[in-house]
Amino acid sequence: MLGQARLAEPVIAAMNTAARRFVPVVELQARASEIIAAATGAEAGCVASGSAACLFLATLACIARSDVGAMHRLPDTTGLKNEVVVHRVHRNAYDHAIRTAGARFVEFGYASGLNDEPFEWELREAISERTAAVFYLAQSTARAMSLRAVVKVARSLGVPVIVDGAGTLPPPENLRRFIDEGADLVAFSGGKGLDGPSGSGFLAGRRDLVVSAVLQQQDMHVRSDTWQGPLGSPAVDLYPAPPLQGAGRMLKAGREEIVGLMVALQEFQKRDHAAEQARLRSTAQRIAKAIDGAHGISASVVTDTGWVPWVAVRFPTEGGGAAAAFQLLRDGEPRVYCHDRLVGSSIIVANPLTLSDDEVEPLIERFRAVARDVGGHVETEGRPAR
Ligand SMILES: *Cc1c(COP(=O)(O)O)cnc(C)c1O
Repeated sequence: MLGQARLAEPVIAAMNTAARRFVPVVELQARASEIIAAATGAEAGCVASGSAACLFLATLACIARSDVGAMHRLPDTTGLKNEVVVHRVHRNAYDHAIRTAGARFVEFGYASGLNDEPFEWELREAISERTAAVFYLAQSTARAMSLRAVVKVARSLGVPVIVDGAGTLPPPENLRRFIDEGADLVAFSGGKGLDGPSGSGFLAGRRDLVVSAVLQQQDMHVRSDTWQGPLGSPAVDLYPAPPLQGAGRMLKAGREEIVGLMVALQEFQKRDHAAEQARLRSTAQRIAKAIDGAHGISASVVTDTGWVPWVAVRFPTEGGGAAAAFQLLRDGEPRVYCHDRLVGSSIIVANPLTLSDDEVEPLIERFRAVARDVGGHVETEGRPAR
């Protein structure tokens, strides 16, 4: 919502260079494939405009495989396998990425939290001759079968598993984890913890499926007798003749994004993530300590939220409470954006992930001023701040 990561200098420099030069995009994607393969342990990879874009390409690939006629027909799936099996608790707001490719979800398991994770037979029961893939949400903390267990069942029935790995980096181990656990395709976001361009993401996985994904994304004004193939010559063997422009063409990545994301991926692998996490925690602590107790607010650091610690700031319910404070922070000077998801519980969440050191003090001052203003309205006029 705010444009995602702050790009590191080497990433910006690479994007600048790419902006001034030309390169056959086919060859750039082939090089990206090598870099993604080295980083993830997958056979191949490709870059698209985000993790959602990669999930869309993954679905196209699982439905069409190497059938150029099917690629041409998509997203019309008449006569094709078009079901994607999913844990009910893994349904989420990025569902469109799968459905827009022509697939329909087939759910298994319950969502109430009263039950244990589903039995393997429940997944087996949901898979049929119409199943194109199984979808798995890596970020989910809900009770679900382990990825390994899902892969075991899906493999035994010849069905590929697509993992949405968006939001799982860092920790860096997750770059390889889902591939190690047997996922056929994994999508990652470029603009989240990888600190790459916000309009980028990559897909890693089985070579035949990645080739199908790339083919449905690339510009295909080619002739069979001069065609280079998407990721080098072996792919041409699979495809006696090239397909036409595919449904994934809408999700192309520019050369600047491809280069920027690949440099960001290499920088990510070099970074000291433990030190970075320690820095985030100390920033969160500094903020919490500086504002706790100011004008009736209380602040504490929450660390069981995943990789990034949060500062949870509780506002008194009088005087407009957290909702008013959220808006004052958002609309003030300098503008401060927090999470408003817990506003219903009178809590604003400050996430320090993209905060630079010189932004911490102004942020603290804004919190103090807003705490005073929200409370002040109660005393002076008895109406909520806007
Ligand atoms: C952020 C996110 C996406 C979308 O990622 P983009 O790179 O913005 O397309 C998809 N799935 C999950 C679970 C996410 O958190």
